[in-house]
Amino acid sequence: MIPGPIFASAGHGQEGESMAEPTTQQRTASNQAVSRPDIHITSLRLRVDAVDAIVLSPTGLTVSSAAARRADTAFPKLVSHVCVSGGHQRFGEEIIGTEPAHLVEHLAIELMVQTAAFDERERSKVAIPDRQLRADHTYTGHTSQVNRLPSDDPAFDPYQVSITYDNDLVAIRALRYACDIASWIMSADNDPNGPSANIPSFAGVLKELLRLYRS
Ligand SMILES: [Zn+2]
Repeated sequence: MIPGPIFASAGHGQEGESMAEPTTQQRTASNQAVSRPDIHITSLRLRVDAVDAIVLSPTGLTVSSAAARRADTAFPKLVSHVCVSGGHQRFGEEIIGTEPAHLVEHLAIELMVQTAAFDERERSKVAIPDRQLRADHTYTGHTSQVNRLPSDDPAFDPYQVSITYDNDLVAIRALRYACDIASWIMSADNDPNGPSANIPSFAGVLKELLRLYRS
């Protein structure tokens, strides 16, 4: 499920090396040790101000502390997202033990925020601190478990993830990328190199989202 070509298209030296074709020995070790959960979207509904996605994740799967560390390493601002789930105030207080779909919600929002900020910084031609970015680069989200239909695969838990947007194309694509990134994050427990190993660059993801943002 990981969009290899997108991660690989980042094209920076260090990240490029991490995406290099593994040797036979590495591939064998990797295949034995790493299993990526299948977190994916089965349907999308576009509303005037928000998009709803039905996200499936393996039944009972929650975010481990190792996966949370990996998410924090890749997206340091994720933990400071406002999140009132479970009576908390920040996503950092909620991330360990939460459902993968909730992680997808916050990842999608983070991708949209970074895309809008990237666009604003590029157009302004000057460095803008985060706190001075336009207020409309604020998105809200909600995740809730939904009933499994009799025809649904019992191997997956269905959730509805809803996020607001200022660009519908970016929101939909961000949700799809967020599922792939969450799958990668959730594979961390089995990674023999530890949670901070082989963090890919997400420049390719942001580049594609920026292209949509400006289309
Ligand atoms: Zn939340």
